[in-house]
Amino acid sequence: MTGAIVWLRDDLRLADNPALRAGIDHGGHVTVVYVLDDESPGVRAIGAAARWWLHHSLAALDAELHDRGSRLVLRRGAAADTIDQLVADTGAEAVYWNRRYGAAEREIDAGIKSSLTDRGIEAHSFAANLLWEPWTVLTGQGEPFKVFTPFWNAAQAMPEPRHPLPKPRDLPSPARATGDSLGDWDLLPTTPDWAGGLRDTWEPGEQGAARRLEHFVDHALEDYDQRDEPSMDATSGLSPHLRWGEISPYQVWHRLHERLEPDQRKQAPGFLRQLAWREFNWNEYFHCDDIATVNVRREFDAFPWRRASASELERWQQGRTGIDLVDAGMRELWHTGAMHNRMRLVTASFLVKNLLVDWRVGEQWFWDTLVDADAANNPGNWQWVAGSGFDAAPYFRVFNPERQLERFDPHREYVRRWVPSDEDRPEPMVDLKETRKRALDAYDRMRHA
Ligand code: FAD
Repeated sequence: MTGAIVWLRDDLRLADNPALRAGIDHGGHVTVVYVLDDESPGVRAIGAAARWWLHHSLAALDAELHDRGSRLVLRRGAAADTIDQLVADTGAEAVYWNRRYGAAEREIDAGIKSSLTDRGIEAHSFAANLLWEPWTVLTGQGEPFKVFTPFWNAAQAMPEPRHPLPKPRDLPSPARATGDSLGDWDLLPTTPDWAGGLRDTWEPGEQGAARRLEHFVDHALEDYDQRDEPSMDATSGLSPHLRWGEISPYQVWHRLHERLEPDQRKQAPGFLRQLAWREFNWNEYFHCDDIATVNVRREFDAFPWRRASASELERWQQGRTGIDLVDAGMRELWHTGAMHNRMRLVTASFLVKNLLVDWRVGEQWFWDTLVDADAANNPGNWQWVAGSGFDAAPYFRVFNPERQLERFDPHREYVRRWVPSDEDRPEPMVDLKETRKRALDAYDRMRHA
């Protein structure tokens, strides 16, 4: 028996990894591989901040594998050819992976599966990154939900998500196979190295993910009802770890249901509801995969977006709009690779409504700068803010950054963190009242188009 290949993708973890478990159960060598695929058509190339994360996550995974007598094999190229080559190199009798849900990725994986099975090689995929497979939570008519709350109600009526699998203590050795060296992939920024703030903020990898979860449960969960205040440490910070699959939603779900003190447990439903938004967006993406480019509500195709000048866009991107809360949010994003959810709403609304810029422009900026950018949640949330998504905020709901500041950062703690009080501030680049009215007029024009 020569063994199996375990092909890791957005599931860079050893614990609760059904594909890895299947590889071990198969017997013989277990070769764990990650394929950097910049070649297969239709796969969206990840952004710069995500590349930074991926580098460190792969390094952490390799270290974990070494601790258990294994190592990570890195290969680059179109997935179908690369996996074929690795099967030939290792003589593997089986290939296992956890599912991905984008249309292009599904097509690639289905092609690989049928080509392997045609040649008598076992190929099997598993559910690992979503609590509910996108074809399981459906309306009474068997249709996907288009509105979040009924989706969440139906999901809660499903059998409880399975318990997570333990982390294997030892791993069978990999088959003899060459691989790339991580440094040669050039995933890290060099000239300039802008990643200092990311390094200070994050610990990519499975251990960092586990520590985040424990910190959240022990110290922040009890304040989760104040999660809208950006200066508070009241949210989990788990989104990039979930994005890269360094922790599974099953692990998070069960940790939230177990061993919590009663006062913490009170906050768990609100948190699980947010986690379910992640599932909802992945469902939406599965059933309508071009959500990063196409308005879910097609009437928005007639929306009269403005073509903003490069310097206007730069002011937004660099946090120099002259609107304190917007600038604080955009600087947090640039510095840390993430932004508090309330600030994502405020900054996105400012771009789409006050500057009247197409949501796709903002989505692309977030795609490039967020460490948690994923193909479902980034466009899904942008369409939510723009009003063009399924269960979106109505377009006429324009966030007023000054009122948001009064409500959620009244002592300016968050703003001060990112916009020093002695800074020479530019005048606001737009009048909030006038641009709100302009946005509502544009919306009316679209409705009558
Ligand atoms: P917590 O409050 O601790 O929530 C726990 C988990 O629930 C998160 O880690 C995340 O996986 C999920 N979650 C929470 N809120 C949402 C939400 N509104 N939509 C979907 N999932 C949610 N989230 C991403 O994971 N990737 C993105 O690319 C992304 N882009 C966004 C773009 C815009 C314009 C907006 C408004 C929101 C975006 N979000 C995205 C959602 C949300 O802002 C982040 O998930 C959240 O800020 C992450 O912080 P946290 O882990 O501390 O969240």
